[in-house]
Amino acid sequence: VAGLTKTRENIVSGMDSIFSGFSAIDEDFYEELEETLIMGDMGIQTTMSVLEELKKAVKEQHIKDPSQCRQVLIDSIRKKMDLGENAYEFEHRKSVVLVIGVNGVGKTTSIGKLADQLKSDGKRVILAAADTFRAAAIEQLSEWADRAGVDLIAQKEGSDPAAVIYDAIAAAKSRNADVLICDTAGRLHNKKNLMEELKKINRIIDKEYPEAYRETLVVLDGTTGQNALVQARQFMEAAPITGIILTKLDGTAKGGIAVAIQSELGIPVKYVGVGEKIDDLQKFSSGDFVNALFQ
Ligand code: GDP
Repeated sequence: VAGLTKTRENIVSGMDSIFSGFSAIDEDFYEELEETLIMGDMGIQTTMSVLEELKKAVKEQHIKDPSQCRQVLIDSIRKKMDLGENAYEFEHRKSVVLVIGVNGVGKTTSIGKLADQLKSDGKRVILAAADTFRAAAIEQLSEWADRAGVDLIAQKEGSDPAAVIYDAIAAAKSRNADVLICDTAGRLHNKKNLMEELKKINRIIDKEYPEAYRETLVVLDGTTGQNALVQARQFMEAAPITGIILTKLDGTAKGGIAVAIQSELGIPVKYVGVGEKIDDLQKFSSGDFVNALFQ
């Protein structure tokens, strides 16, 4: 897992200086650990639960040395994140992937990167510009389609997103596409509209492309910390979410948000964005993440 340098410096260096700086496991020790984990955006719920487990282990195993707490903590975080191995079924079957996210989180960039990655894997990919609210969004997606060398199905600004999806499904079938990636809206301030829009899109797919495997991915900006968690919860109310694309991990010391997302929402992070270039998207594995963080 690349892009974790800042997070590692923040959380892990912080933790390690606590483990080496304290000579006894006391209340101050736990308080400093708590602060470090929360500052790293591990989430309050997860932090509290991890610390409870640590206290229990310290008591039961008669741990006296703070440095012995390190492995206990790592194991506990690993367990909290464990949602089983990530499945990428859409890479193996005819699929429709809906991508949702508010402006600026890196949605368009992530779609471009994903298209490029799937194409490099030998897949035939089509993009659908179903976020029709802004002309700039359609234009930007078109640029990414060119960059990745995949087809784009678009209509003009303000057209019905469901109509774009309808066209895109027809194109996916006639061109024998493996993966249809749909850029959809993410206007959370109007959740009712968003919900209706996604429902309508899903109904079209149910009807026109029932055989397709489906994913609905939410794009979250890793630098926004706990706000990302709030956004994810709101999207979960609007549609059944199957995974997260967590962007801008390269620019943040708050990569602990990946722990919070998996442990508190129970939704797998499927990809992480680690830069602005087309190949800066990585598949996510929580096991690798914990290993890379605490190497
Ligand atoms: P959208 O409005 O959600 O479609 O966001 P964009 O895809 O236009 O991205 C917004 C900005 O974030 C752009 O400047 C991207 O280059 C940048 N960006 C997207 N993903 C990443 C990432 O993983 N790392 C970094 N450093 N920047 C990113």
